[in-house]
Amino acid sequence: MYQSTLAQLSTALESGQISSAELTRLYLARCHKFNNSLNCFITLNEELALQQAKYADKQRMAGNATPLTGIPVAQKDIFCTNGIKTSCGSKMLDNFIAPYDATIIERMNAAGLIILGKTNMDEFAMGSSNETSFYGPVKNPWDKNHVPGGSSGGSASAVAARLCPAATGTDTGGSIRQPASFCGVTGLKPTYGRVSRYGMIAFASSLDQAGPMTQTAEDAALMMNVIAGFDQRDSTSAAHPVDDYTAGLNDSVAGLRIGLPTQYFGEGLDSDIAKLIEDGIKELEKLGATCREIELPNTALSIPAYYVVAPAECSSNLSRFDGVRFGYRCEDPKDMSDLYLRSRGEGFGKEVKRRIMIGTYVLSAGYYEAYYLKAQRVRHLISDEFQTAFNDIDVIASPTTTAAAFKLNEKINDPISMYFSDIYTVSANLAGLPAISIPAGFVKQLPVGMQLIGNYFTESRLLNIAHQYQKMTDWHQQVPREFQ
Ligand code: GLN
Repeated sequence: MYQSTLAQLSTALESGQISSAELTRLYLARCHKFNNSLNCFITLNEELALQQAKYADKQRMAGNATPLTGIPVAQKDIFCTNGIKTSCGSKMLDNFIAPYDATIIERMNAAGLIILGKTNMDEFAMGSSNETSFYGPVKNPWDKNHVPGGSSGGSASAVAARLCPAATGTDTGGSIRQPASFCGVTGLKPTYGRVSRYGMIAFASSLDQAGPMTQTAEDAALMMNVIAGFDQRDSTSAAHPVDDYTAGLNDSVAGLRIGLPTQYFGEGLDSDIAKLIEDGIKELEKLGATCREIELPNTALSIPAYYVVAPAECSSNLSRFDGVRFGYRCEDPKDMSDLYLRSRGEGFGKEVKRRIMIGTYVLSAGYYEAYYLKAQRVRHLISDEFQTAFNDIDVIASPTTTAAAFKLNEKINDPISMYFSDIYTVSANLAGLPAISIPAGFVKQLPVGMQLIGNYFTESRLLNIAHQYQKMTDWHQQVPREFQ
């Protein structure tokens, strides 16, 4: 049963084959068995999950079930959860229990989903390997000497090892898609503003976006039906009409025009990955899609622009952690400034401090125009060239990453090389576009993903293409041997 997708679990619950309480106990048992070795959960929500499950069973009996009522899922520890610790992977929030639920949590609770636990992540979502977490690194279930990717590595690892059927993630520069690719799961970053950021601890507010991490595109659609939509508590939430994300899954992809950016297939790409992505695209061609090469000439500027914009916004967002209002406070402060300096000095890890320093620098008088303003201009160029591309194509296909998961400790002391692991993903964040990563094969027994980027609010189409691809392939059904 633990190998099942959300869609299958929904049917099993509906037919009475299993109860939510039984299902929740089953996943909790798997978490107990495997979490020590994978470290994907920071908090297991045992007691409350079982209570929620009993309530879900009652709701189902009373005929009040939604398609996902009674299914336990994992939540990235960046979402505030009323009464359950929300650490954001940081010592700064190790003692923080939010007094309210993030909108995404509220919506999932209302749909009857169970919170199995909170997943490990890079500290404040800053990282690509999960190694910056205060709670230690997460392991990749395909090979525990390798990283699961980041920052949503706990969620990716947990879904890949089937410790939960699905999870949430957040993606500021690639943090849903890159770990999805490294762990062999499906990860969707929606259009900026499609899913509410209320109650999601802010890293870089103009880039952050929450989304589903699942086994299949169909499951991602089921989750999007719960979490997408306008929220008046998030000022950047989009009022755009919300699709029924499962309705179009079986639409034909005949006539689909796919663009292949030459910049995403050039130097730096592992040749085995290039081959797998070409094979993946051929599958779509068999269904009647056509391909052409396109140019996104400013791709090389995406990482430098991102590493100005994201630290700038993080330096501002993280100023609220001052040892006064919530979170970590140093012992015996001498005076006010000692309180600020030591609380922040002791509460934040190295990568977070590096970003705060870069961000403060690029925003300071005299440098603002040279760095921040320039990065914003580059960001516009990047958005514009996507719009030009979408005049002639419907979707962009590419690898999600240049290589499969790297080894633990391989890049942690080389931030620049770590930053470049997001080269194919950050542009979608800078432009605010939706993008999905789907399992597309294996390189030396490690999974790799294919990325599809669409124009604004085309999540349904991306999910439809991914679903059609998953009907023709079985990469997404593979489970690492130890966890089968
Ligand atoms: N790896 C990128 C970074 O370190 C992206 C992180 C994210 O998407 N949250 O900033």
